[in-house]
Amino acid sequence: MPEAAKTAIVDFLAETTPWTELSLKIHANPELSFQEHQAAGWITETLSAQGFEITQGLTPETPTAFKATWSSGTGGPHIVFMAEYDALPKIGHGCGHNVIAGAGAGAAAALKHALETTGTPGSVSLVGTPAEEEGGGKILLAEAGAFDEFDAALMIHPADKTMTVRGNRACVDMFIQFHGKGAHAASRPHEGINALDAVINSFVTIRQLMPYLHRSANVHGIITKGGEANNVIPDHCEANFLLRAESVEALESIRQRVENAVERSAESVGASTTIEYGLTYAELKANRKMADLFGDNLRSIDVPVAEDVTELGGSSDVGNISRVLPTIHPYIKIGDVIAHTTDFAAAAGSPAGMEAVIQGAKGLAMTGWDLISSPETLQQAEEEFAAAMAEAEA
Ligand SMILES: [Zn+2]
Ligand SMILES: [Zn+2]
Repeated sequence: MPEAAKTAIVDFLAETTPWTELSLKIHANPELSFQEHQAAGWITETLSAQGFEITQGLTPETPTAFKATWSSGTGGPHIVFMAEYDALPKIGHGCGHNVIAGAGAGAAAALKHALETTGTPGSVSLVGTPAEEEGGGKILLAEAGAFDEFDAALMIHPADKTMTVRGNRACVDMFIQFHGKGAHAASRPHEGINALDAVINSFVTIRQLMPYLHRSANVHGIITKGGEANNVIPDHCEANFLLRAESVEALESIRQRVENAVERSAESVGASTTIEYGLTYAELKANRKMADLFGDNLRSIDVPVAEDVTELGGSSDVGNISRVLPTIHPYIKIGDVIAHTTDFAAAAGSPAGMEAVIQGAKGLAMTGWDLISSPETLQQAEEEFAAAMAEAEA
């Protein structure tokens, strides 16, 4: 039997409509990373109408980020929900970030309603985190300190299963230029240095290295420039690798060995390299205490929760938030669909997708309530976070 505040949250979300309307509007108007001006505008308008104070932008690099805050003005913890709202090229909301946005906004308003009606001290924010698909918006926000003021961070992501935790890896993009020397491939090959041979050597060497890298390593690459003409020795080639591992610490050891292998491979044919890296996406350190509360809250409103998936998967910029404060990123089922497909995009705008918006908002707001209303609960989440970070950095 849920306590009165949780009943108030559930009733509030059952009786108010902006959350699914907001989600459908974002779904119908997909915007790419860092171009999500309409989505950010619609979310902030909706929360402003609910009495939230809005700050736009947050950092110079993230013009489509925002913070919407409501505070009781009487102290207490500060809980933050996160909203993503960027889409994918060609397939629109194929990752269903419109569901995240609707659920996050609904959760913020519902938790505010619970705090207000019970006179409980505390603050609640929704931070709009742009460019998850391309650009690492949360990494930029975390590095700028935009999450330092909060006590716990929560968001949901749509999926093919409702689950509280899914295995996740740190990753970094590696961009390599190979410099050789051009020459006629038939009449003067001895005067050239073949940059493509350096690329091919690198792929072979990295493959040979794979069994000896960290057991959580996943290294995958493509050739992005392989030469201009088959009768010219390529003087300049490019490749791009994505390196993943179970933690940023493991990733760093892999990165050094792969970089070394690429440099040696290029040197072996007389070529040289220029290597650049993208932003480092940290692994998600899902807070078990908060994840369990979220699962319990969903079950209490008759939403079935599947087993966690522990096998290591992809990456998300929410990992960088999870190294700043206790964080969860559970999943809500929208259908038997795979992310980044047109089928997933259709499900994200379907009645099942809209049900996920409301279920997600309820689960998030109820878990936010658990953390804000019980100092012991929040303390347990904080202690778990501190222990996980101490272990990672040891
Ligand atoms: Zn995605
Ligand atoms: Zn996504």
